Amino acid sequence: SPAARPTDTIAAIATAPGRGGIGVVRVSGPALGEFARALSGRAPRPRLASFARFLDARGEAIDEGLLLYFAAPASFTGEDVIELQGHGGPVVMQMLLARCLELGARLAEPGEFTRRAFLNGKLDLAQAEGVADLIEASTVAAARSAVRSLSGRFSEEIHRIRDGLIDLRMLVEATLDFPEEEIDFLEQARALPRLDALRRKLEGVLDRARQGALLRSGLNVVLAGAPNVGKSSLLNQLAGEDRAIVTDIAGTTRDALRETIQIEGIPLHIIDTAGLRETSDAVERIGIERTRQELQRADVVLKLVDASRAGEQAGGADVDLDLPAGVECITVLNKIDLCGLQPARIEGEAGLALRLSARQGEGVDLLRAELLRVAGWHAHGEDVILARERHLAALRAALTHVHEAAEVLPALELFAEELRLAGEALGEITGEFTADDLLGVIFSRFCIGK
Ligand code: GDP
Ligand code: ZN
Repeated sequence: SPAARPTDTIAAIATAPGRGGIGVVRVSGPALGEFARALSGRAPRPRLASFARFLDARGEAIDEGLLLYFAAPASFTGEDVIELQGHGGPVVMQMLLARCLELGARLAEPGEFTRRAFLNGKLDLAQAEGVADLIEASTVAAARSAVRSLSGRFSEEIHRIRDGLIDLRMLVEATLDFPEEEIDFLEQARALPRLDALRRKLEGVLDRARQGALLRSGLNVVLAGAPNVGKSSLLNQLAGEDRAIVTDIAGTTRDALRETIQIEGIPLHIIDTAGLRETSDAVERIGIERTRQELQRADVVLKLVDASRAGEQAGGADVDLDLPAGVECITVLNKIDLCGLQPARIEGEAGLALRLSARQGEGVDLLRAELLRVAGWHAHGEDVILARERHLAALRAALTHVHEAAEVLPALELFAEELRLAGEALGEITGEFTADDLLGVIFSRFCIGK
């Protein structure tokens, strides 16, 4: 790595704020033997958890707990690392942290431990991102996918494709030295079939990465309809048993207008437009403004109608949503149990309509399937890649260069150049060609202590 190795020592409380049974202060630096001795009164033994008193400058105990010492390079960051596992109270944790600062550490920035791990080659960039994604995962499926990235499965696939591109390029460049053989090369090296195989692999990875992006960001669903048509009931039916474990995406506050549920692990951010009309106070208006912004990212609108009262006026249900053009709209004819109708999917002139009963649950599976279709979801658990927008962009760029490589043939020099550019795009995913400022952006979104 081109970046210089850090020479200072960093410290942070690694456990979540608040009270807990155990709290952890983590320290990383080039040499922490002395540091640990000053803190615990004893020389630490690497890779051994030892019971210790954590001492202040006067030798009095701040806390007692476990001291773990990992000597470089066999640690998370690749430097010397100490973990102090004390009692998880905010005051005692702050005191322990202050003691570490007194001993010469400085406060770690968000993601700085992981950044050092990356700089020391313990993790590549896609793995580092997996760390943050696992912590932020809002569904079980997202967590499983993140841990696969973290353990390097995504990176391995990228490396394999890159190696394939490099092999092919080597062959071409060898041929360039013997121009009279250029024509033979294409046949003998089976350049085109090999390029084609790489293209298919790349397309497969991109497809699974798109599915993962869906797992990460979910689908924005707008729920519209007059009072009492059954919006809340439908939300409860859709959420089913998963509701209890659903949390909102980290970084956005939960508000009454927006609720996140999941279907097959895909977060659905449901915006109940009923809430949009019911406001007068200033704080709520902020929430509504945010909701209106989210409406601009709507993927699908569910228009609820009470089928048992069809023909009656919708009754002011059509608040001006100001939705972008092209948003898919599904009419939901609810309460079919009241009028003896069967669940059905009806594709009519006015678009798609579903007959169902939100209260009884009949036909709700039709709606689930429809939402998954809108989302473009077709993956099956294991092979999804929890990709970020920058991964998708890199994969698309690589694919474009592979397509261009096929088109510039038989110009071997251009062919080799396109292969090189494709490989470089893939290298951005694992961090081999990533600018320092981008690294700064990526790691600054981590939490402190990670
Ligand atoms: P919202 O105001 O649109 O959120 O409507 P609610 O979900 O609060 O439902 C209003 C009333 O309609 C409640 O009494 C629900 O139990 C009832 N309701 C909702 N869906 C159905 C349904 O499918 N069948 C029947 N019979 N009643 C329903
Ligand atoms: Zn309601």
